[in-house]
Order: sequence, then structure tokens, then C-alpha cells
Amino acid sequence: MTHPTTTSPDAAPSPYRADGSGYFGEFGGAILPPFLAGPMAEVAEAYEAARQDPEFQRQYQDLLSKYVGRPSLLYFAENLTNRLGGAKVYLKREDLNHTGAHKINHTLGEALLAKRMGKTKVIAETGAGQHGVALATAAALVGLECEIHMGAIDVAKQHPNVVRMELLGAKVVPVERGGRSLKEAVDSAFEVYAASPDEYLFAIGSVVGPHPFPSMVRDFQSVVGREARAQILEAEGRLPDALVACVGGGSNAMGLFDAFLTDESVRVIGVEPAGEGLDTDRHAATMTLGVVGDLHGMHTKVLLDENGEPAPVHSIGSGIDYPGVGPQHAHLEQLGRGEYVTVTDAEALDAFQLLTRTEGIIPALESSHALAHVVKLAPELGPDAIIIANLSGRGDKDVDFVAERLAQA
Ligand SMILES: *Cc1c(COP(=O)(O)O)cnc(C)c1O
Repeated sequence: MTHPTTTSPDAAPSPYRADGSGYFGEFGGAILPPFLAGPMAEVAEAYEAARQDPEFQRQYQDLLSKYVGRPSLLYFAENLTNRLGGAKVYLKREDLNHTGAHKINHTLGEALLAKRMGKTKVIAETGAGQHGVALATAAALVGLECEIHMGAIDVAKQHPNVVRMELLGAKVVPVERGGRSLKEAVDSAFEVYAASPDEYLFAIGSVVGPHPFPSMVRDFQSVVGREARAQILEAEGRLPDALVACVGGGSNAMGLFDAFLTDESVRVIGVEPAGEGLDTDRHAATMTLGVVGDLHGMHTKVLLDENGEPAPVHSIGSGIDYPGVGPQHAHLEQLGRGEYVTVTDAEALDAFQLLTRTEGIIPALESSHALAHVVKLAPELGPDAIIIANLSGRGDKDVDFVAERLAQA
């Protein structure tokens, strides 16, 4: 199948794109201290040039097909469909990508951009280590140094991912200050970056942060939706009724949604973690319970604690426990184009087991949130409907944790 090049805001004027300053309506922007504004503007300019450069796009598409293994399958989950007794359920199999998740789609793009900008290193923070591994992989391939900042607590908890990053040649920096977690890792990585922005590209791991990252990461992920759109037209001769994807920062969701946004008949549904319940403080339902505010260089929705600081959040899916959300999601909700729902840890765990047993596919716990919503939605929509869910990653990383949880139950 052909890979159309990344669609551009000017080629397809759309109410869903950011303006030149990276604002999606009132959300987004680049809210930065002066010492970071310059370097980030340089990234925006370089990305804009790369986006319009056929040679850059060719290199990128080439890696997607020859290295990542794209296009990924759009799989008709017939057993699951029969079990749920409603809409036909298709799964976009991002779990089959090299490294086992959607993240490689944007880390390769970021690494290519860093190279093009003459940087020698990419730097990022990581929580559970998934972004760090995907970035270390891309850096190894493209030939860049890679520095990953990680809270000391996470370094201890996520040992296999630390080993992977180091084997891939990355330098993992354990962050010992404060809560020794993701928040401190972000600060630590930003300080190193700010001290020598000429050497580094700060490679953000989702459609979050200052402009151009929400647009750029979406563009790199949008191959997911372009493929799915062509694949469903070929399989069913029509567009789906609904798209479902889990939302942490929101990159796998934006990747699936983007190619369908102007197809107004297609519902786009983001699924957030309700964790242990929306009435507890153990969730990460930013779209559902957040307020409008600034976080990590963007104006968006955020979950705050009683002191007005980003709240400590929780989800069984470690890739979706983020107290903010990509600004384009906040915009889609405001426009009434995107719907946002929640799923609890327990529901995600059930969906994890359901897919594993009915289809022989072990999904990531993050992706299991999307599946848990499909379990509710499919009977509701009925047998004439079609749903595409994004299976953002494979669950091998989660099997020990799930086995332990099930043993306790
Ligand atoms: C990181 C991750 C996510 C969450 O990231 P988004 O930017 O919200 O897509 C979802 N699924 C998997 C498998 C992940 O690794």
C-alpha cells in the first residue's frame, strides 16, 4: 500500500489543525521561559522545513516500511466480536511494530529530525521506560547518542527497561532529587537540555509539551490512521462508526484519529484511566476531571492537587498515568468532535484477559483501556456497526504484574 506523505495544515485547511504558534483554539502554544523559547522555536522551524522536504519524508517512510514493519495489520477480531455480540471489532495492530508499540513511529521521526538539525544527542525523560527504550532504539539506528533521565524509584522498578536502554547504548541518568519520580526526571532532563541546546534535541514522548511537539508527534503517528482508513475501506467498503484509543498524553489516539477528523460520521473516542475510581485520588482522568491550566510548556487540561501543583496520578497502565493531556484532545472535546470516557483498572484488567483468551493476543495494559471501552460500546452500537480500536502495544511487559494481581484476587 502507498504511504501518502504527512499531510500539512496548509495543504488541507482544517479546523482541527494548530495555527502557526501551535494553538489549537485556546489550547497548546509554547509557554516557556526565555532561555528555552529560542531553542524550541528552532525546533519548530526545522520541523516545518523537514515536513515539506520530500527527501526527509522519503527517509522517514522508508524506515516505517523497512524497519518498523509497516503497514501494521488491521485485524478483524471475529472471536471477540462474537463474544461481545454487537459491532464488528477491528484492531489496529501497533503491537506488531518493531519494539512492540506505537512509540517507535515518532521516536524515529524525532531522531531523523535531530540528525538533520546537526544535533549529536537526543535527550528525554521516561517514566516506566517505554519512551526511553523507543528513543534509544531510534538513536542506535540513526547514529545518535541518547541520554534518558529517569526517577531513581522508576530505575529500580523498571529494571528490564533500564537494561534494554543501556544495551542499546543509551546513558540512563537516575534522578535522586525530590520524589525521585517522573516529575523530577522531566526537570532534570530539561536542565541538561537548556544548558546545551546546540548539542541536543529534546525528544518528547507524546503529543504534549510546547509547539511543535503536539503537531509533530501527531504527524509522525498519523500513519496509523491513514493506514487504518485505507484498510477498512478495502475490508468493508465503508468508514467505521467509531474509533477507540487509550489516552495518556494522547499520541496513539491522535495517530488513529487524525485521518478521520473531517469524516464527521466517524465518532472518535479517547479512553482515560479511572484507576481505582473517579471518586478517589487514584486515577489519571485529565480530560474528565481536569481543569484548564499550563503544564510542561502547553496550555491544556491538567489534574492539580490542593496546592495547585500537578497531581500525583495513578493508573494500572504506567504509560497513561500523566496529569496532563495533549492540547489537541482538549480542543477536540471543546469542539464537540472528540468524546472522552474512562475505564477503571479492574475493567482494563478484565479486557486484558478477555482479549488474551478469545484472540490469543496479549495487549498492553494501556491498550486494554481502549478494549475495555469496546466491551461496553460494541453491544450498544449493534451488529451493523464497525469499531476500530488501537492496540497501541503488546502486553509482554505487563505479564508478571498481571499474574501477581490475579493471584491476589
Ligand atoms: C506510552 C504508551 C501509551 C500512552 O501514550 P499515548 O501518548 O497516550 O499514546 C499507550 N500505549 C502504550 C502501549 C504505550 O507504550
